[in-house]
Amino acid sequence: MKGTIATAEILSVGTELLIGDIVNTDAAFVSRGLASLGISQYYQTVVGDNRERLDAAIRLASSRSQLLIVTGGLGPTYDDITKETAAAVFGRELILDEESLSRIRSFFDRRGKIMTDNNIKQAMMPVGATVFPNPNGTADGCAVETPDGSRMLILLPGPPRELEPMFRDQVMPFLAQYTDRVLVSKNVNICGMGESEVESILRDRMMAALNPTEAPYCLEGEVRIRVTAAAPTVDEAIRLCDRDIEELYQTRVGPYIYGVDSELKEAVVKQLTARGLTLFAAESCTGGLFAKEMTDVSGASQVFRGGVVSYVNAIKCGLLGVSAATIAQYTEVSEACAAEMAEGAARIGQADIGVATTGYASGGAGVPEGMTGVVFIAVSDRNGTTVKRLALTGNRDHVRKLAVKQLLAMLLARMKEE
Ligand code: ATP
Ligand code: MG
Repeated sequence: MKGTIATAEILSVGTELLIGDIVNTDAAFVSRGLASLGISQYYQTVVGDNRERLDAAIRLASSRSQLLIVTGGLGPTYDDITKETAAAVFGRELILDEESLSRIRSFFDRRGKIMTDNNIKQAMMPVGATVFPNPNGTADGCAVETPDGSRMLILLPGPPRELEPMFRDQVMPFLAQYTDRVLVSKNVNICGMGESEVESILRDRMMAALNPTEAPYCLEGEVRIRVTAAAPTVDEAIRLCDRDIEELYQTRVGPYIYGVDSELKEAVVKQLTARGLTLFAAESCTGGLFAKEMTDVSGASQVFRGGVVSYVNAIKCGLLGVSAATIAQYTEVSEACAAEMAEGAARIGQADIGVATTGYASGGAGVPEGMTGVVFIAVSDRNGTTVKRLALTGNRDHVRKLAVKQLLAMLLARMKEE
């Protein structure tokens, strides 16, 4: 495309829309995104599933707007005619897109279903197109220009649960390249609340949000919401993001937000530093991973005094002062042992705070029934000792990483409570 895109229009395909069976929420959603990108619209059209009328509507729309966005009719059946019709008007042949085809195949595989030949049609894309993968269905979207680069066509699937995330997460950033707007993203980091809970609390916000957009990502033991704003200047986009993030803090997710554009370990070191507190760790099942995370952060030596890997009971008792009676009564993977380890850590490390981990990172000989993935994490300071029992899943490496993440989150929450 030469230069910027100033004008666009939306053409929604579907007889259901014409007879009032469904409301054109796709057009409303896309319109708000276009407006936030500063792209003007002067027309919108709805047309039924009819080849001649669709062809005429596409010709008319593309004669008066630089960008045409067509929604619906990307399905696998005979009445889904949008792609062939639109590509022909834009002077582009359709060719098989192998990546698209393999995505459709795996979509069916994941559901234990057989892909029919109909679906091959959905993997046919205009020559030269940018493909937008569809994680929620089989119809990928795409963008393609006329061969002379004067006009652009974007095709999107009709179902809102497919169109909305595709438009927000892929098409908006794509279009921003052709506008005088800038996009700015900030990552809001959440720990201590599961992905599905975060999603259910924020779902309505996230679906409605277009500027800024809010998109969730799941990381190991954390959830990240990427807030992205479009505006004429960077400063204004930052302001829009910050205002949105302020609102996120006011939701039920708010207490679990530990930082923006910062990692959990950085947030912990920052809090310790701000409060002038020191820390020492006693690790069993995490084998020093917590200490590694702390020492990843530059400047951590001001607050992190060190740690011990007290892997066997002799070290738990001999070095940290865990009582043999505790282990005899509750075993070394217990709330009581974790508490004594954390208290011992604070004492031998001469630190304000002691933390500890003890658990079964994976199954095997000597692991009691139902205890695989159980890890106790503990924090001890002048206000007392708190222990959390985690029931984690995944392989050994994953369980250990999650346990460390949870311990960092617990430590942070405790400092913030103060
Ligand atoms: P499919 O693969 O499901 O056939 P498609 O891309 O071919 O998807 P359509 O067949 O046009 O899309 O529409 C499928 C469904 O998506 C419709 O029954 C309707 O529920 C919803 N839908 C389609 N267009 C819109 C729209 N403009 N606004 C809101 N919902 C829509
Ligand atoms: Mg359809």
